[in-house]
Amino acid sequence: MSNTFKAILISRDEEKKQSVSVTQVAEADMMEGDVTVAIEATTVNYKDGLAITGKSPVVRHWPMIPGIDFSGNVIASDNAGFSVGDKVILNGWGVGEVHWGAYAEKARVKGDWLIKRPAGISAKQAMSIGTAGYTSMLCVMALERQGITPERGPVIVTGANGGVGSIAVSILSKLGYEVIASTGRPEEADFLKSLGAGEIVDRNELSEPGRPMGKERWAGGVDAVGSHTLANVLAQTTYGGAVAACGLAQGFDLPATVMPFILRGVSLLGVDSVMAPKALREEAWSRLAEDLDMAKLDSLTTEIGFDDLIGAAGDIVEGKIRGRVVALI
Ligand code: NDP
Repeated sequence: MSNTFKAILISRDEEKKQSVSVTQVAEADMMEGDVTVAIEATTVNYKDGLAITGKSPVVRHWPMIPGIDFSGNVIASDNAGFSVGDKVILNGWGVGEVHWGAYAEKARVKGDWLIKRPAGISAKQAMSIGTAGYTSMLCVMALERQGITPERGPVIVTGANGGVGSIAVSILSKLGYEVIASTGRPEEADFLKSLGAGEIVDRNELSEPGRPMGKERWAGGVDAVGSHTLANVLAQTTYGGAVAACGLAQGFDLPATVMPFILRGVSLLGVDSVMAPKALREEAWSRLAEDLDMAKLDSLTTEIGFDDLIGAAGDIVEGKIRGRVVALI
């Protein structure tokens, strides 16, 4: 009889109706890969919420173990870059979408998808950061490459109470930026200020159709929301400023005009974490070890149990989660 391990499994019946259960799966059924990892910690990203609730077609192979992020220890390796005992992080690469993912005691993946966990970041902290935090850092790096320094003016973060947003606020503030946080949860203003936000903007100010150009309010932006919000953020960016767009919490549309681009030289910077090349990932993770205040990270993290992951996935798509959620396996 084959060895088994605990996992959350998303299955589909003949009518393509989705169901989710906590179950035992056989090691013999694990997907192809040259490194096997004992998972220590995982997390809940917006995409995991979409996968588990079935709200968007994130899962493209059935049955699927969801979970796009894990940190753990290598327990078997045929990859020259990894040895038993290495502490590793995985973010994205289609894991939890087309390849069995993180909501399990074990995962077998391609070594090329893994990076070594930087010294000074625990498995729990790595997952508290997760794809959301690593994407925040990719956004900050994109703004920096575009010359958006703290001296250029404030940076707005949309979806500020979410995972990407709360970590972006924390990083930008540690780097010395004046941070404006846009949120639909003004009752969390004190929390956002504790992370380093100087000003709070009600997200309703940005989420309705706006004018092609508005008053210049910020030199940069980290946008996790898309749709009218991103259009309005662009319209209020100062001359030569830049906005890093990574999310679609309001919508994937972009009802904007070219006016900010052609009259103010504003740049729109696309940010993808899923297929980002390894060198960029390693740079982002080593920057996170330097430029993220771990006490703030702890303050924005809620720890849950493995069996709570399914409920938390439902909560994230309903916008009920503040900051980041971590499960230790
Ligand atoms: P969260 O759910 O944690 O955060 C999203 C936040 O957006 C919410 O907390 C809320 O913030 C705000 N929000 C939700 N609904 C709306 C709405 N209708 N209108 C305006 N604002 C809204 O998700 P994450 O932070 O993990 O992810 C954010 C986005 O980034 C998602 O769309 C996700 O898919 C995307 N993403 C993309 C990546 C990439 O590689 N490009 C990687 C990681 C995430 P508040 O309550 O403060 O208003």
